[in-house]
Amino acid sequence: MTPDMPMIDSHAHLDASQYDQDRPQVIEWAFKNGLKYIINIGSDLETSQASAALASQHKKIYATVGIHPMAEQETGCDAIKDMAGLEGLVREDRVVAIGECGLELNQKLKVVSDAEPSNIKNLSSAQAGGQNDKSKIKKQTEIFLTQIKLAQGLNLPLIIHCRNAHNEMLEILSGVKNLKAVIHCYSGSWDQARKYLDLGCRISFTGIITYARDYDKVIKNMPIERMLLETDCPYLTPVPNRGQRNEPLFVKYVYETIARVRGELLEKTEEQIDKNVIKFFDLES
Ligand SMILES: [Zn+2]
Ligand SMILES: [Zn+2]
Repeated sequence: MTPDMPMIDSHAHLDASQYDQDRPQVIEWAFKNGLKYIINIGSDLETSQASAALASQHKKIYATVGIHPMAEQETGCDAIKDMAGLEGLVREDRVVAIGECGLELNQKLKVVSDAEPSNIKNLSSAQAGGQNDKSKIKKQTEIFLTQIKLAQGLNLPLIIHCRNAHNEMLEILSGVKNLKAVIHCYSGSWDQARKYLDLGCRISFTGIITYARDYDKVIKNMPIERMLLETDCPYLTPVPNRGQRNEPLFVKYVYETIARVRGELLEKTEEQIDKNVIKFFDLES
């Protein structure tokens, strides 16, 4: 990796408490080693505010603001109230997208042993299993639809989080006109990926692909122009650093895996993915 071949981490949570001891160093280290930009993602009002604040302090960090489908359950926040707060935040400088937002149901992911705990702080098992999927989907859908409207009104892209609910997600998105969205940390099948692509979506991969072969077919078959890459740090640390805290610089292992699986030169992959991210978020190139 050289400074003229920079990479972008398109989904990080640098506001997470895992960085409280060394956040400035982690950020400096990432940019010093060639990262071009980091997109820091909000998942409730508090982390969206933190995300916007981080972006206002760093020229190479951009922010998104959104309410994660599990936010209410995990932090005890009031998603409807948080939504009202978001509307004040979205117009801040350097806020480039709405999300992460979407749907998440209870079933355990079959291929991912250390799946993103979706920013779980104090989740009790009673809370996790207490609601049935039907009422859960209804509430999550309502909050998700509000964010779709917000994004469309401002002409901003959407960062979509979807776990165990791809068919429900596809149904919702098929009713959205002029959709500009990325399905982050992709966990669906090739068949579902094709449907997302038909709707105009981008698909984004994390460090999961460095140790699970389940997405090779999607990686090989999808048009690279529609692909974004991310760490979702501090979660989902890629090989060879699995077991450690994840950080933006480790997105390089995700880039390397994409190049290897697709049989392409790393430089070519970097160049194309960076173009994709810059275009999707409308960043300075
Ligand atoms: Zn997510
Ligand atoms: Zn995330």
